[in-house]
Amino acid sequence: MAAHAGSGHTAIVIGGGLAGMLAVTALLGHVETITVVERDRYPAAPAFRKGVPQARHLHILLSGGQRALDDLLPGTVAALTEAGARSLYLPRDLLTRTPTGWQRRFDERRHPTLSVTRPLLDAVVRERTLLAAAASPTRVEVLEATEAVGLTGDAGRVTGVRVRSRGGEPADRSARELSATLVVDASGRGSRAPQWYAELGRPAPHEETVDAGIAYATREYRPSDPDTAPDVGVNIPGWPQCPRGGAYVPVEDGKWLLTLSGVRGHHPPTDAQGFLGFSATIGDPYVHELLARAEPVSPVHGFRDTCNRRRHFERTDAAPEGFLALGDAYCTFNPVYGQGMSVAALAALAVRGTLERTGGPVPGFTAEAQRAVSRAVDPAWVAAVGADRPYTTDGDAGAGRGERLAAWYFDRLVARAAIDPVVGAAYRDVFCLTAPLSRLVAPRIVLRTVFLPRRPGLAAPPEAVETV
Ligand SMILES: Cc1cc2nc3c(=O)[nH]c(=O)nc-3n(C[C@H](O)[C@H](O)[C@H](O)COP(=O)(O)OP(=O)(O)OC[C@H]3O[C@@H](n4cnc5c(N)ncnc54)[C@H](O)[C@@H]3O)c2cc1C
Repeated sequence: MAAHAGSGHTAIVIGGGLAGMLAVTALLGHVETITVVERDRYPAAPAFRKGVPQARHLHILLSGGQRALDDLLPGTVAALTEAGARSLYLPRDLLTRTPTGWQRRFDERRHPTLSVTRPLLDAVVRERTLLAAAASPTRVEVLEATEAVGLTGDAGRVTGVRVRSRGGEPADRSARELSATLVVDASGRGSRAPQWYAELGRPAPHEETVDAGIAYATREYRPSDPDTAPDVGVNIPGWPQCPRGGAYVPVEDGKWLLTLSGVRGHHPPTDAQGFLGFSATIGDPYVHELLARAEPVSPVHGFRDTCNRRRHFERTDAAPEGFLALGDAYCTFNPVYGQGMSVAALAALAVRGTLERTGGPVPGFTAEAQRAVSRAVDPAWVAAVGADRPYTTDGDAGAGRGERLAAWYFDRLVARAAIDPVVGAAYRDVFCLTAPLSRLVAPRIVLRTVFLPRRPGLAAPPEAVETV
């Protein structure tokens, strides 16, 4: 049920990044106007901007996220591919080294993964969102170079946003108020919602963190001879005995991104020499060897804030009426699992589903929508937090018996998934966010994981693709 022109509902979206644009698509047709407040000015062509500092690093869009994106904005995955994004089928097109050896290259074709730079992805999604907006009854206005600095309302109800222009004449930079029926916080990992809550006289939402202490460093490369360049990406994530990892993937324009990662005590250096040296110390020399046939075409950029952090706005009484948080403002993930953007799309879908049920941002809508966002986030959160537990400072010590059993099972499952097409398919279904976590404990998967003998993966990166 979409809102009619006279419904009078209005929305403000704080942050015009990925989650902000997807929030706009969810709201189209359900409110009369949407005002997007974006701190940056958008570049004329796809380019890095300060407001998305993680954009220099490798970003893949999982199949679950692609489905959600296309559901919200039909044709966007094709538009991204047309713009140069590379589609890599898992596990065929991403050679992966697991703790027990290399994964077999099953030609499964269930999970295409998009490999693309963030500036291009954001530009395509933004362009298509604004096109969809132009064709809808909802009027969308984007205020660039405008920063949200607070909320208006009281402890029980948010009624709008205080904003301030950036740049321009000093006289224009004083804060002014915008009012709306609904305020969506999509301002990313630096969201100030907890502080804004305090100004409204509310306690901050409960914050849960699980920090593996990972840091990233990334550099762009171009193969010296495109004709002999590899045609598949490589992923060598770290593991407890070797807490350094790397991923080397093709993106648009014939470029490749190398992201190196390491947990505390093993952070990758950001100087060119140190970065190259670090690439030789990850779990397998394969990526380092490939670099001999590529030229670096960018400086090395680092990133340290990679904690899994969830602010539980969905808990009873944790969010005032009229306020909703999604994207990284609600939950961030250890980026090693490549889930954040997909979860933002799944969360926006959940918001749209709630709007369709309630008919618009009516009283009670935000609590219901925030719970739907929380359910959309849950599978990725449980998977990321479970996988990161061994890397936290208290590691196993903080875990109960159930958690230790789950860690034991998960460890066997990952080893089995590398060599077993049935367990591997279930593992990918869950990690690509297309199946619930319960798929990992289906009787067939448990039997194969627990009772089949533990065998190592392949000794070298496989060339042969195996049909399944
Ligand atoms: C190193 C790294 C690698 C990652 N790799 C992957 C990956 O491979 N796959 C994946 O799916 N995810 C990945 N992620 C996660 C992904 O980057 C985020 O989940 C995603 O960007 C979330 O989108 P968002 O719109 O919530 O936040 P952002 O993309 O950060 O956008 C926030 C927007 O809000 C604006 N803003 C901020 N504050 C204000 C304010 N006060 N007023 C107005 N505007 C404001 C910013 O300018 C920006 O435009 C990675 C993250 C990191 C850190």
